[in-house]
Amino acid sequence: MDERLIQSAFRELRSAKHVLVVSHIRPDGDAVGSLIGLGLSLQNLGKEVQMVLSDGMPKIFRHLPGSDQVKHRPTGSFDMTLVLDCSDIERTGSSLSDNPIPDVNLDHHPTNTGFARYNLVDEKAVATSEILAEYLPKFGFPISKQVADALLFGMITDTLGFRTNNMTPKALQLAAQLMEVGGDLPRLYQRGLLSRTFEAALYWGAGLSGLKRDGRMLWATLALEDRRIVGYPGNDDADLISLLSTIEGADVAIMFVEQGNGHVKVSWRSQPEFDVSQVALNFGGGGHAAAAGASIKGELNDIQANVLAITKSILEL
Ligand code: 5GP
Ligand code: MN
Repeated sequence: MDERLIQSAFRELRSAKHVLVVSHIRPDGDAVGSLIGLGLSLQNLGKEVQMVLSDGMPKIFRHLPGSDQVKHRPTGSFDMTLVLDCSDIERTGSSLSDNPIPDVNLDHHPTNTGFARYNLVDEKAVATSEILAEYLPKFGFPISKQVADALLFGMITDTLGFRTNNMTPKALQLAAQLMEVGGDLPRLYQRGLLSRTFEAALYWGAGLSGLKRDGRMLWATLALEDRRIVGYPGNDDADLISLLSTIEGADVAIMFVEQGNGHVKVSWRSQPEFDVSQVALNFGGGGHAAAAGASIKGELNDIQANVLAITKSILEL
């Protein structure tokens, strides 16, 4: 991370009065945590802040204070626009509405395309929330208990409870600092990683019943029909991919989730020797070496065959 660059960006942010903060489509815990964490901190400085997610706030994150402020679209004009946890501008969906090139792109994805005026990408950070946990206090932006909870939630969820192979002592130190100002680690851990709905458990069952393996590659599929039968309300995999990646011998785990819009959401997870971000990039997606995703247009069976063949070939599985 270029310290001078982030300092200039935060200096501009200090003097901005109307601020727009957005994050990515199909928001995860880090998208939501970084969005609310930064949004509330700016509000505590008296700024007028709009927090926007193209897909709105998922129900599972509504326990976070401030989540009720998040809107689907921005209204009015802004002195400054910030995009969090998005590796490309398409990931913002329609959250920027007709606002021009974003001022700040704050992210931790190595596949970030650098689409803003200030591109602040720290690939070593385990979460975008970690970057904020480090720099907000450095530049005099307050971290209240609510801000700490939001940022800690982002860090916990993106690292699956501080256990992904990109974990660092620095991330743990920053998480400890968030706890010192009130971040409630056990509660956030429970809400973010352990508790799930009855419907999500049935949905996992549907996915697990079709689990397949080919050498070191393992995959599962969730079709629209599976969602309808069990009554699962989301269009995601209810994080089944994290379970797949714990299965012995799965050097690469892949999840296919049929979407209602003629697309299939594909998620990859891998052991350290395999870089799945390169495979995701090949399909117009992105992510990290060990966790990547893409949204691919087409029919489920065709996409599945194609993704399996290309993953196998690129990673020489
Ligand atoms: P997941 O598979 O859990 O959706 O995402 C894993 C990682 O890949 C995350 O870091 C996420 O940001 C990234 N990712 C997932 N889907 C996409 C996508 O469609 N485009 C890009 N650029 N990144 C994605
Ligand atoms: Mn993230």
